[in-house]
Amino acid sequence: MGKEAMELAYKTAIPGADGGDSSAFDRITRLASTVMQTKMAMISLIQDSGHPQLASGPGVETLGAGQSLPFCQYAVASDAPMVVCDAQADVRFDKDPMVSGGPKLRFYLGVPLRTRDGATLGTLCTVDTSPRTPSAEQISMLSDLARMVVNEMELRQMSLTDSLTGALTKRGFEQRVEAERIRCQRAGFALTLVAVDLDHFKVINEQFGHATGDSMLRAVVDACRDNLRNCDVIGRTGGEEFVIMLPEMPGTVAAKVADRLRQAIADLRLPASGDVAKITASVGVAMLSPGSQTTQQALLRADIALYAAKARGRNRVVLDPAML
Ligand code: GH3
Ligand code: MG
Ligand code: MG
Repeated sequence: MGKEAMELAYKTAIPGADGGDSSAFDRITRLASTVMQTKMAMISLIQDSGHPQLASGPGVETLGAGQSLPFCQYAVASDAPMVVCDAQADVRFDKDPMVSGGPKLRFYLGVPLRTRDGATLGTLCTVDTSPRTPSAEQISMLSDLARMVVNEMELRQMSLTDSLTGALTKRGFEQRVEAERIRCQRAGFALTLVAVDLDHFKVINEQFGHATGDSMLRAVVDACRDNLRNCDVIGRTGGEEFVIMLPEMPGTVAAKVADRLRQAIADLRLPASGDVAKITASVGVAMLSPGSQTTQQALLRADIALYAAKARGRNRVVLDPAML
């Protein structure tokens, strides 16, 4: 399971990151602070900068969301739980502003959050302002709780990701759009939704078999990814139907991106049964004005534009009239 997908699963669960239900993670961090008898217990997550940053749990309010603890960097590099009984007596940390000043942290126990295929996501960590020595039993319990954090992320990831293509499921996609809509509304940005339906896809299955149909679906998603930014999100909303969210993009640019996707799909060539399978797509584009529209209304407008593209002969992009 890739780190990116897991991060996504986590983000959809953490309020302040992407909205969603964080209760399972909150329960685990509360348990961690009870087990360790520390004021603070948190989940940190490795960000693009490469540093683990605090994401959730009791203590985030005191220390600040997005804050990096000097200890976590060591914990993620370690195979074992990382214990600092007294940071003031530890030359690695005694001059750190988090230890010598500010929150005056003394105790740290952190366990790396590691997936089955070895990706490190961050830490489950407990922190306090008084020094202490944890028992072997406490360390073992924190390790179990860390495993529960990873399991929870894996379950969420599975329920939100389509196993064939790696795109988000309909539910996962709608959750992401809703979270992004709220963020864009605050920031005053627009959001574009691009609905894609493959043309005469049934024929691919009939002519080349279901396995080639599946390969084509995967190739379509890969081709879209190659033409999108990291912040863009692809959802598989039906068998051969996809919706793509393009945040913070002017309508004129989004229209060009939509046509680039259409072209990339039309350019696909898939060797199959001594022949070559190819496909086209019909595309509908609608803007979501976060203040005045619901996600469902904008998805419907993108769908209406898509059906207009089908009616006008397929392999084309049609924009919602409000974008013209
Ligand atoms: P149109 O241009 O009107 O969209 O025609 P179409 O053939 O693409 O549309 P239709 O909805 O009639 O058929 C969609 C087909 O997609 C039918 C279904 O068997 C196939 N399909 C749906 N999901 C999958 C899948 O996961 N794998 C494969 N191989 N085929 C799938
Ligand atoms: Mg369809
Ligand atoms: Mg179709």
